[in-house]
This record gives sequence, structure tokens and C-alpha cells, in this order.
Amino acid sequence: MTTWSKRTKQVHAGTRRSQYGEVAEAIFLTQGFVYDTAEQAEARFVELGEDEFIYARYGNPTVRMFEERIAALEGAEDAFATASGMAAVNAALTSMLKSGDHVVAARALFGSCLYILEEVLARFGVALTLVDGTDLDQWKAAVTPGTKAVFFESVSNPTLEVIDIRAVAEIAHAAGALVIVDNVFATPVFSDALAQGADVVVYSATKHIDGQGRCLGGVVLGSAEYIRGTLEPYLKHTGGALSPFNAWVMLKGLETLDLRVRAQAEAAQALAGALEGHGKLSRVIYPGLASHPQHGLAMAQMGSGGTMLSIELAGGQPAAFRFLNALKLFTISNNLGDAKSLVTHPATTTHQRLPEDQKVILGISPGLVRVSLGLEDPADLLADVTGALAAV
Ligand SMILES: *Cc1c(COP(=O)(O)O)cnc(C)c1O
Repeated sequence: MTTWSKRTKQVHAGTRRSQYGEVAEAIFLTQGFVYDTAEQAEARFVELGEDEFIYARYGNPTVRMFEERIAALEGAEDAFATASGMAAVNAALTSMLKSGDHVVAARALFGSCLYILEEVLARFGVALTLVDGTDLDQWKAAVTPGTKAVFFESVSNPTLEVIDIRAVAEIAHAAGALVIVDNVFATPVFSDALAQGADVVVYSATKHIDGQGRCLGGVVLGSAEYIRGTLEPYLKHTGGALSPFNAWVMLKGLETLDLRVRAQAEAAQALAGALEGHGKLSRVIYPGLASHPQHGLAMAQMGSGGTMLSIELAGGQPAAFRFLNALKLFTISNNLGDAKSLVTHPATTTHQRLPEDQKVILGISPGLVRVSLGLEDPADLLADVTGALAAV
């Protein structure tokens, strides 16, 4: 199995067949497991064997298949699946931090990630320094021997800054800090984060891994020591477990992940290229365009610009709203990575609560629209966008 490519692992890795020899993975919709004898129950509570489970909050065969499949394709020793992406981010950080510790994070973060760092962990005495993630000098200045972890989105939402995993990991590791990467925008298809120096990779499976807007889910990947020694005790006692049904949806999502994400990235590249220089737009942000400030890094780190792009309407918020309302094929929503193409106005929705000065620093302007490419015909998508821009 270790010689299989990612695409093959996405279809086969982690499969566990029951005595019935089913082709499609079984949904083990059970929270508990029975024991033949009292002695067997006692033994399982001392140590679990490979095919042994005791309670679905700790583990379940369908959830385990998902964990083993995604660990195989990410090149991780182990993984723990969670109820949502935020349960994964929270557990990845909280399980390893204590009062007095210091974390350095990139400023351009998903709002809920910022809440965990600035509100929750701060309440328990964890100090935080925020930096411009693309500026290595800021990382160097912020990371000290007291820094326990660095945290960043490898591609930031919604302004698509690309952070140099290898360079930040080098700075962090020199100080003995753990590198935790929220890798949602990179997707497992374009990720090589662990090989590039990340210690822990976190995904919201809600996005590309499901890919059809059905279930919430998340996963934390890392060394066996981190997953079993640090993360698992925290997660199994605090209850952020993934439901077996949702794990099954994610497992089937992984089978088509490569095909979907590559098609979505091709559509994003085509749309970004076609829109660059459009008279109604002041900016087209896409890591796959040569005009992107970290284009070279994006191609070296991911080999693709990804499935997301952002455009800035020159006419500000009124123009952005007219554009959104004139779209006929793209759907206004705040999800991403879906089979359906989606558009979001970050300044008034996902990033609404961010103070104005922070929006300016992060480039979340009133005219900015985030675009998540789906699986429709790219020609239809381009026609929809150019039609809606003409209405502005
Ligand atoms: C969506 C998202 C999350 C949170 O995931 P949920 O599954 O919604 O909890 C975390 N980080 C990033 C970058 C995301 O896009």
C-alpha cells in the first residue's frame, strides 16, 4: 500500500471488510461494542487491539476507515477524526497547550480559529502573537524559546495568501515549537505539508472532502506520538468525535477527491485567467496566476493554485452586491469546496465581526468577493460571471 499513489490510496486505503465481504464500506452505526466475557471487556480497557473498539467516542470501525484512509494519503502516521473542522482545530491546539505557553499565529485566520486563540486560550493564560504570515522576518521576531506552537492556514481565507510551510517550520523547529497547519484551502490533493515540515495538519472535512455540502467533519493528522499521546486523551474525554454516518460520507468523498479537486482547480485557473484585467475588477487574486505575490511559492508548495479565487469589484460594496445578485449559476453561500460553485461576500458575512482596521490590514475590502469553483462546465461558469459583471 505504501507504494500506491495518492489517487489509489483515496479509493482503497483503510478499508476494513466485515465477515460479509461487502464492496462498499459498511456504516457501523453503533456507539457501543459487546464483549464475549468479562475478562475480554477488562482486557480491552487495558489495551485495545487492532480490530477492537469499546465506545464510539473513542473510536468506531467506520470512523477508523476514514482516519486510516486520509492518514495514508497525507503520509501521516496516524489521524483522529472530529465532529467538525473547528473541533479539530480546537483539539489540535488545546490538547497540547497549558497556562503560560506562547503561540505564534498568522493574522489572516478563519474567524473561529481566531476565537479559539484570542478568546478561549487567552482565558486560560496562553499568550498569543499574531504576525503577517507571508513575512518571515515577523515569524523570526515573534517565535522565542518559550513558543510552544505556531499555527497558520497554508492558504489564507479569503485573500489567498500562501504561507511558506518549509520556511516557517524551520523557524519554529529551531525554537522547539510544534507546527500546526490548517490545510483546508490546499486540500489533501495538493498538500505535501507533513513532508514540507508541518508536524500536525488539520482539515475541515466539511469542505472538499465531503465536497457535496452534506456533513460536518474534521480530522487531525500527525505522528503516532502526538495523535495517540497528546490528542486522543483530550478528544476522547471531551467528546468531539465524528459520527460514523458522517465518517462514511467523508470516506466516500475521499474516493472522488482527486478528480473533483483537480477539475475545480482547472476551473479556477481558467476563470481567474479570463477575469484578470476585466474593467469592473480592481483585483483578481488567485495563487495560480503569475501576478499573485506568492505564485512561485504556491506552485512549488502545492503544484496548483487551488479551487478558490477572490475578485475585488472596483465599485466597492454596491457593485459587489449587484454582481452577487445578478449571478444565475453561482450560489450565494458561505461554504466552499462544494460541487456547486459558491460566492461569498466576506466583509458582510464570514468576516463581518472583524474590526474595520483589521479588515483593512487583511485586505477584506467592501468590493471583495470570494469564489469557490464547483464541478459545472467552466464555460457556463465564465458566462455567468461575465454576465453578472456586465450588470454592475
Ligand atoms: C471551514 C473552515 C474551518 C472550520 O471547519 P468546520 O467544519 O466548519 O468546523 C476551519 N478552517 C478553515 C480554513 C475553514 O475554511
